[in-house]
Amino acid sequence: MIPLDEARRHVLDRLTRLASVVVPLADAAGLVLANKVVAAEQVPPFANTAMDGFAVRAADTEAAPVTLEMIGTIAAGATFDGEVGQGQAARIMTGAPMPLGADAVVMVEKTALDEAAGAVAVEITVPVGNHVREAGEDVNPGDVLFDAGTVLTAGHLGVLASVGVREVEVVRRPRVGVISTGDELVDDDRALRPGEIRDSNRRTLLTLVAEAGWEAVDLGISVDDPDAIREAFSAGAASCDAILSSGGVSMGAFDYVKVVLDEIGDMRWMQIAIKPAKPFAFGLIGSTPVFGLPGNPVSSMVSFELFARPAIAFMAGEDDTSISLLTAISEDTLGHAPDGKIHFLRVEGRVDDTGRWYVRRAGGQGSHQLTAMARADALALSPDGAEIEPGDEVQVLPLRSAWSLR
Ligand code: AMP
Ligand code: MG
Repeated sequence: MIPLDEARRHVLDRLTRLASVVVPLADAAGLVLANKVVAAEQVPPFANTAMDGFAVRAADTEAAPVTLEMIGTIAAGATFDGEVGQGQAARIMTGAPMPLGADAVVMVEKTALDEAAGAVAVEITVPVGNHVREAGEDVNPGDVLFDAGTVLTAGHLGVLASVGVREVEVVRRPRVGVISTGDELVDDDRALRPGEIRDSNRRTLLTLVAEAGWEAVDLGISVDDPDAIREAFSAGAASCDAILSSGGVSMGAFDYVKVVLDEIGDMRWMQIAIKPAKPFAFGLIGSTPVFGLPGNPVSSMVSFELFARPAIAFMAGEDDTSISLLTAISEDTLGHAPDGKIHFLRVEGRVDDTGRWYVRRAGGQGSHQLTAMARADALALSPDGAEIEPGDEVQVLPLRSAWSLR
């Protein structure tokens, strides 16, 4: 068995970044900037009001309450040719440009308009700049908005839109193929025949890929036959940036995945000092990385989290390939007798009102018991031979697909 860190390093060391492409903002969500973005425009582009109210000269409000002459109305998107002189005010709507002469805004709630008299009563004294948003308060030309390596989320895309950026250079979105292997697997609605099970791994892995923001490509089920396996992996390597397969990587007599991948690829077959997900294979077919995940449903998901997710994120341009752990308080006895492995236990989490995480077992911990994985918010780490009693601290790896805590 090799340590988890060594296996992770082996994978990460063999990867290369995908090429960058220019895409419209509409296609950029979740992608990673290939270059920094420098602003060419100012935001806001002009001084404007943050409130509906009246644009005034602040000095005129010193003796409030005062009555000012109403000289016009300025809507958002409009311009105003006049100038607010001493003793005057202009009605103004949120986002409208400040008129010449005015240096403050009085919110409408602190005024009383007498339209017939063409006058407005101002109840309060306001300082210069009151409710005025100056040009460039958010962004100025030449500002570095975001550095290369930034994962573009809603806020980033909004900023780029706000400065008139229409397209960005990003690392290409990975196309990730998913293959299930095994003669026992069924993927239709007929009754199972003796010995058959339904294929669940392809559904979970395709969904994990899609949730990560990558393009998921269904490469189907490959029966335990060398020709079928060769065909599926060769086609996948030709059309995808990475392949995730499940099954056929352990010690079984019909694990032809091993035979075939050794023939068409350059693979390393590993036994990793973890439970679940001990068997794992990684290598390249041509230049396409192949992740040979174990067949047991929980194992394939854990293996995805520990190896495939950080690796594909790196290919997609992300810098951080670490596994970030949180400290939680265990509500159960966790731990395990020494067996040379780190155990990853499926746990449900809750946060108390002080912000502390508490975790408890999510159900059956067998690597075939997927329901506990589905319910889990995190994987709790049990170091080899650990004894973790209720109330003890435990390190947990939050599952991103279950990020929202109950
Ligand atoms: P293997 O690694 O091929 O020996 O498979 C290990 C275990 O995982 C066996 O019990 C398989 O039946 C099961 N298994 C393999 N692939 C899948 C799959 N796609 N969906 C559900 N179970 C699977
Ligand atoms: Mg199998």
